[in-house]
Amino acid sequence: MESIFDISEYIASLKNKKDEKLISSIYDIETCETRIEIPKSFEEKIFGYITGQKMENADESEVEEILQKVRNQKILKVINRWTYESALYNYLRALRPGVNIKDSKKQEAWFKSNIEETKDNCDFCEPEKYTPEDSFGRIYGKHCITAANLARFDRFHSLLIFKRHNPLDFSEDELSDYIDTAFKWFERIKGISPEHSYSLLIWNCLPRAGASQIHGHMQMLASKTIYPKMAHLLSTAKEYKEKMGIDYFEALYNIHNILGLSIDRENLKVLFYITPVKEKEVFVIADSIDSNFKIFIHQTLRKLIDELKVFSFNFSLYKIPISGKKNVIYFARIVDRGNILSKTSDIASMELYASSVIANDPIKLKKLLN
Ligand SMILES: [Zn+2]
Repeated sequence: MESIFDISEYIASLKNKKDEKLISSIYDIETCETRIEIPKSFEEKIFGYITGQKMENADESEVEEILQKVRNQKILKVINRWTYESALYNYLRALRPGVNIKDSKKQEAWFKSNIEETKDNCDFCEPEKYTPEDSFGRIYGKHCITAANLARFDRFHSLLIFKRHNPLDFSEDELSDYIDTAFKWFERIKGISPEHSYSLLIWNCLPRAGASQIHGHMQMLASKTIYPKMAHLLSTAKEYKEKMGIDYFEALYNIHNILGLSIDRENLKVLFYITPVKEKEVFVIADSIDSNFKIFIHQTLRKLIDELKVFSFNFSLYKIPISGKKNVIYFARIVDRGNILSKTSDIASMELYASSVIANDPIKLKKLLN
């Protein structure tokens, strides 16, 4: 499959009809076409928007091909009938080149100057002086330190502050240390209150992703009950298993595998999710947090940052105790939050009240990240 917009044809062409049945046991996939008319006076602007080039420099057939695609747009809706996760793919945006060099250079320049400007007067550069600590004190990693969150939203809610001010500057060793130190904090909480066994590690990178400070930091939450979004996912998985007789996460992985949108690396399964919460989402299901997991997360983040020019992202890692042989399962998710200089939010009424609208093709994302 070259593009996610070919998904219906691809599924119809599958030789093993069991594969088609498995896909339709979870997803409703709807494709259709819609036509718009473009006034002559608007063609030049449209061409520039899609290609980033001037129409006068392009040859006639190229111009006509682009304009035809704009006139006859494809619609693709992917809906998970169990979780109600859904994606409406934006064909026009998908026509645009993956990395806009001009935009990413502007973002890079702004980011660099902002990093320098915020270094003076940064509380997180001197965490022991300017951040509160947990009642049991701090946990010291090689490259980070923990602090209590000043404005908590759960009983156990703390920060993991990187030694480096620049959040995008991290090595494999540093990222591994951040994760290890967070898990030391979770263990400490377990010692204090064993029932707070749901561990959530999140990273809002840069203000566009919700961070209040530029300085690199993650947040750790240990809760007594599972957070509702994850509870919904797990109850759906249970319901699917009861009705279909197959493990939901196995089915989810197998579907992405059939579509060429998965990677299997020992104890972790990676999905280039077809109903992403927003752009370029990577969904990882892991049995344990070992070096294999940390290397993969590091590689993925570095490729997103260095090659795809992602500056702002959300990362989450959720540890969930489950019944059965495995007794624990980990979900890690990474999502791009878009241009840090854009005045337009990436989350709008559609995302809040209806469905995610997606511009990036998971097929292309897998090719770029793999
Ligand atoms: Zn700092």
